[in-house]
Parts: sequence; C-alpha cells; structure tokens
Amino acid sequence: MKCPFCGNADSQVKDSRPSDDGAAIRRRRSCPNCGGRFTTFERVQLRELVILKRNGRRTPFDRDKLERSLAIALRKRPIQPEQVEQMVSRIVRQLESLGETEIPSSVVGDFIMKALKGVDEVAYVRYASVYKDFRATGDFARFLGDEGLDDDTNPARDGAPRG
Ligand SMILES: [Zn+2]
Repeated sequence: MKCPFCGNADSQVKDSRPSDDGAAIRRRRSCPNCGGRFTTFERVQLRELVILKRNGRRTPFDRDKLERSLAIALRKRPIQPEQVEQMVSRIVRQLESLGETEIPSSVVGDFIMKALKGVDEVAYVRYASVYKDFRATGDFARFLGDEGLDDDTNPARDGAPRG
C-alpha cells in the first residue's frame, strides 16, 4: 500500500484485526521511508461505480483514493482513523444511493466537502482550497466570507500543505 504522505510505494503492516462492526479488516501501517502512520480497511465491494472526470474521462471509483483524500485533508487534525472510515462509508453509501453507475467527479467532491464541513472546518477549507483550485489569496478571503467561516480556520496560518 502506497504511503499517503510521501508516496513511497511500500508500507509495513503493524497490526491487523476486524473493525468494530466486523465488516472490514483494519490494518495499521507505517511507512519505512517517512515514518508516517496510517490505517487501511479491507472490505467487500458490492457495486462498481465509475467516476466521470471533468476532462470527460471515466475511471473506476476508488474507495482507497477517497480515503487518502480525506486523510490528507485531515492530517494532524484531531480525527481518529475510525471517524475517517465512517466518513468514507457514508460518502460511498450516498454515492451508491444515487442509483447511477456513472457519477461526475464534482458530485463526489461536493459530498467530500459536506462530510468534512461537518467534522472539521480546517480540513474542509484545506480540501476546498485544492478542490476549488484557488490561486489568489483574494479568492480565499472571498470563499471564507461566503462560507461564513472566521479567521481561525484560515489554513494559510495553520501551515497546511498545498500539493
Ligand atoms: Zn511515507
């Protein structure tokens, strides 16, 4: 499993056990390259979803990729791996309940933003800043104003990683 932090192709499994609901296998992993720690969940996939990207290309929905996006947005935030997994499960259920096989990537992005907003505003703004591709600080200020968030959640001062 690729390290979500440094991109190292390999990681070591430290611990492996069933999740609380028994529907998944939970694995604690660590990266020998950067020392980063993360958790993966192995589960049965019931339906194949296809994501329709903005450039018109189609790609199979990748639950791990969704989890990595959330984990990166939530990095160093006080959120447990189980909470991330619950968010992922909720988003997947929402996607499946749309009843569509093909789902535009923008719909997935919106679900992710809504999920993050309910859990951690800093992570939400981090994700939104990448997702909405802000280039100028003015865009940020306008966005924060639009969203009614106060200055404390400005990731520029929080040292949030960009790209
Ligand atoms: Zn790493």
